[in-house]
Amino acid sequence: MKIGILGLGLIGGCLGFDLRSQGHHVLGVSCRQSTCEKAINLGSVDQASLDLSLLASAEVVFICTPIGLIVPQVKELITHLPKAAIITDVGSVKMPIVEAISPVWENFVGGHPMAGKTDAGIEAAQRNLFVNRPYVLTPVATTPSNAVTIVEEIVRSLGSIIYHCQPEQHDRAVSWISHLPVIVSASLIAACLSETDPEIAALAQNFASSGFRDTSRVGGGNPELGVMMAQYNRQALLNSLYQYRENLDEFIHIIEGKNWELLAEKIKLNHQALHNFLE
Ligand code: NAP
Repeated sequence: MKIGILGLGLIGGCLGFDLRSQGHHVLGVSCRQSTCEKAINLGSVDQASLDLSLLASAEVVFICTPIGLIVPQVKELITHLPKAAIITDVGSVKMPIVEAISPVWENFVGGHPMAGKTDAGIEAAQRNLFVNRPYVLTPVATTPSNAVTIVEEIVRSLGSIIYHCQPEQHDRAVSWISHLPVIVSASLIAACLSETDPEIAALAQNFASSGFRDTSRVGGGNPELGVMMAQYNRQALLNSLYQYRENLDEFIHIIEGKNWELLAEKIKLNHQALHNFLE
């Protein structure tokens, strides 16, 4: 199959590697010539260009640009595509994208691979990033079933676990497990940076180890992605943050009151519930 990728960054680059290894012919379009050359040299695409017309012969196109560019890029792309071409995207937010694209391109299937890295760009791309990871598809009532089936087949070949839900359900769910953690982790780093005693600050930096690495990783990632998640999933993220603030206040209250039994009970309940999220 001829598959197009628009945006040869981390996710686009990873997709290119895996799709080529499945025997697909991969056409890539990106913003900078240097990225196109790197993508070819690394083996992520067969052909690359700055010109969207390269994708005119693709049967399926994955849109892998930053969230805010997905809708305008699709509107430009469709002037080059035959009606039968299928478009899917990998954006971390679904409702505004699906609402804007579905009316202008029938064969559009919203998608979101739940896999990533803190580094951005083609240099960070790797093989098999999507293996055993959830990959959410958000078709709507008007999406042709044939388009969904074809995107599902490709996603399954990446080794991903496919989920279907409504775009709005997707955005609310990812606000809990993806977008809230970015802001919580960013606040954690900012709080550590507020230490005013330089000696204590230096000690804290030297003592930082696995616990700090686990809890700070997503708060120091790609800033463009963090801002766009907040901008395009603002209300769901705010709802999660308001709830989080309540939980934080509850923990503060328990510790101020030296209620150690209740604190232990809460941590124990969290421990039991955690396996529902992570194995
Ligand atoms: P990234 O590494 O920064 O890649 C984005 C790429 O888009 C850049 O390499 C850039 O290419 C290209 N681009 C920017 N403007 C463009 C334009 N006008 N035309 C063509 N290409 C353009 O970001 P990413 O992490 O792969 O994220 C891409 C998408 O994946 C986002 O929508 C994000 O929500 C989604 N996503 C990300 C993750 C994650 O953890 N990172 C996980 C799941 C989904 P140049 O290098 O040529 O400038």
